[in-house]
Amino acid sequence: DPAALVQMLFSLGEMVTATESVNDETFELLGDELNYVVQVVSPEDEDRELLESFDLEFGSDVGDEGDLVARPPVVTVMGHVDHGKTKLLDALRQANVVAKEAGGITQHIGAYQVATEVDGDERRITFIDTPGHEAFTAMRARGAQATDIAVLVVAADDGVMPQTVEALNHAKAAGVPIVVAVNKIDVEAADPQKVRGQLSEYGLVPEEYGGDTMFVDVSAKAELNLDGLLEAIVLTADASLDLRANPDQDAQGLVVEAHLDRGRGPVATVLVQRGTLRVGDSIVAGPAYGRVRAMLDEYGENIEAADPSRPAMVLGLTAVPGAGQNFIVVDDDRMARQIAEKRESRERAAMQAKRRVRRTLEDFMASMEKGKSQELNLILKGDVSGSVEALEDSLAKIDVGDEVNLRVIDRGVGAITETNVDLAAASDAIIIGFNVRPQGKATEMADKEGVEIRYYSVIYQAIEEIEAALKGMLKPEY
Ligand code: GDP
Repeated sequence: DPAALVQMLFSLGEMVTATESVNDETFELLGDELNYVVQVVSPEDEDRELLESFDLEFGSDVGDEGDLVARPPVVTVMGHVDHGKTKLLDALRQANVVAKEAGGITQHIGAYQVATEVDGDERRITFIDTPGHEAFTAMRARGAQATDIAVLVVAADDGVMPQTVEALNHAKAAGVPIVVAVNKIDVEAADPQKVRGQLSEYGLVPEEYGGDTMFVDVSAKAELNLDGLLEAIVLTADASLDLRANPDQDAQGLVVEAHLDRGRGPVATVLVQRGTLRVGDSIVAGPAYGRVRAMLDEYGENIEAADPSRPAMVLGLTAVPGAGQNFIVVDDDRMARQIAEKRESRERAAMQAKRRVRRTLEDFMASMEKGKSQELNLILKGDVSGSVEALEDSLAKIDVGDEVNLRVIDRGVGAITETNVDLAAASDAIIIGFNVRPQGKATEMADKEGVEIRYYSVIYQAIEEIEAALKGMLKPEY
């Protein structure tokens, strides 16, 4: 029972409470003590084993070299806010509709393909239609890598900014080659050379200076040199990547985005990574499964098949999978259902385990007492902006010394939303609601995720409690 385990850990020199998570080593230590062999398995390992038990393997091509065919690069656009990522994605989409009759209006399905001519050949490029490194990183966190090349957008009138650096670090960490789009060259204050100089300091040295990064000056707004950018992407892919896949096998790939459509049920945009996905295939996507009833391309038109690097919107799943989860074609519906059900029950178990680890102000005090926590993250929501500001100002005035850090990671006016809870769960934060209530499923979700929401209607009361938590438990000074 938990109390006995806590006591045993205590005798092993580990101070934990019954509701606390422990690391792998502690588990192994505990196992040794109790004569159990502890095997630490990651969710990825577990899923690999699950697929193996059905004779399936995700992530590698079937067949030999001769079966592999060139596939288009998949590109994510990243960069600092307001540097023109969205505008660039829109401009590329409008200017380069894949050989279709005029009038083909693209729809947002999460990814799209464009065609361009390089050295007389038609070449295609797939763009992930969600800019920013958050989506990119969320996918990577699930062990998925959809992106082959990152386009780093830098506004020529603004230069390198914090998120530019963040984005390039994310791309580097993923080992993804970068093409720099120096945007807004139509603006008078534009200084594209300065951008080159700045990025050189971060190891992105332009080709023209003897480095190996292609810089392309563009204007998303004036639609200048977009072809030049597409060409640079193709050339970078040819120079540093071997993008090939076997189109003649059961399809596999990733979910780019998914939602529940009122009329059509669950719809998921998938990116085929290998094989060819066909209408009628039995598939399993994360914990969702089904038979592909229909597929739509980025023009909203029905397609029968999607080959490697092709995005397609899939209809026919039984549930909505998560972005970044993988999909795989299996023998039949029965197999799809069995795999999906196993994943579903595992996800539920993981969720339950997580629910028991509550992030509360009391927990924070307890872990601070043991010298484990030095940072309290808060999300502030209030009925009017004045009260949120007042709350934040007062919090800033709490003198907590150097040992503890109070951080307001987000603030806003209005009800507490699921997005607030999401952020709180991801960053171990506590939500402070001032004269506001939760909205929709926010309470339910907070409960599930173990996020504490504290409600106040008097500012000084909120301040007092937080101050007590921070001060009362400061580490004793020697
Ligand atoms: P994001 O936050 O990086 O997605 O940036 P947006 O695409 O939303 O663009 C931010 C602002 O810059 C918008 O007002 C755009 O119209 C503007 N913008 C984007 N590209 C250009 C460009 O090439 N030239 C000029 N002058 N404005 C641009």
